[in-house]
Amino acid sequence: INANPIHLEHDPTRIMGIVAIMEDVTEIRRLEKMRSDFVTNVSHELKTPLTSINGFVETLKSGAVEDRDVAMRFLDIIEIETDRLKRLINDILTLSEIESMETKFIVNEIFPSDTLMEVVDFIIPLADSKEIELFTDIDSALPSIYGNRDWFKQIVINLLDNSIKYTPIGGKVELTAYTKDNNIVLHVKDTGIGIPKKDLPRLFERFYRVDKARSRKVGGTGLGLAIVKYIVLSFNGKINVDSEEGNGTEFIVTIPITSS
Ligand code: ADP
Repeated sequence: INANPIHLEHDPTRIMGIVAIMEDVTEIRRLEKMRSDFVTNVSHELKTPLTSINGFVETLKSGAVEDRDVAMRFLDIIEIETDRLKRLINDILTLSEIESMETKFIVNEIFPSDTLMEVVDFIIPLADSKEIELFTDIDSALPSIYGNRDWFKQIVINLLDNSIKYTPIGGKVELTAYTKDNNIVLHVKDTGIGIPKKDLPRLFERFYRVDKARSRKVGGTGLGLAIVKYIVLSFNGKINVDSEEGNGTEFIVTIPITSS
């Protein structure tokens, strides 16, 4: 409750009454806390690669640059950390764009069968680089849906990218798409490392990772699934996950088919 005293006009020292404004401050506090946690997390995530870059530059300057092999190794690390920063900044920008719904008003007619095949063509080289077999079972006559086409693609790119990242060399990833009860249903399934049951409820939180070191090693930012969740919500859809540690993971996205 916000209570503001009302003073008498001719005598500001005397109070005439109190105006009380009641609002649900718990919700406001919760949102404020979420925002400040996000800023703390972002700063921390940006600081880690910057500290590393800074350290290697200093070491190079204080003599390591004389040894060509060592210098090249350090420069490689600097390049990897710079790429991480770029990905992180891109993901932060994407997330804030989606959250603010700035581009929600871009409404394309999306032909899911074609769009999904485009995504598959884009992701094949990544699967090949890990000798992962990418299977597809996409209904070729999926009805069109309406929304931001780039965002729709991003859902599948992020899910496939994760499946490839968290599946060991030689594994399998499968993308299935069909229509059910006036919805388009997408499954992204892998034979990867899986996710412990206890981590499933927090998986879509920003910067939540099951294994931080592993995520860093495979170039993760911790924002991929948060982005997916917001996009799915923008399509009024739902996302579910089913996983077994050591055996694999399956994400299921359901998007309602609307007329426009
Ligand atoms: P990251 O950039 O770390 O991959 P995400 O938001 O995309 O972040 O995913 C959050 C976490 O969920 C990951 O760090 C990983 O631990 C887990 N995860 C996501 N997809 C999979 C998957 N297909 N198999 C196993 N673990 C996964």
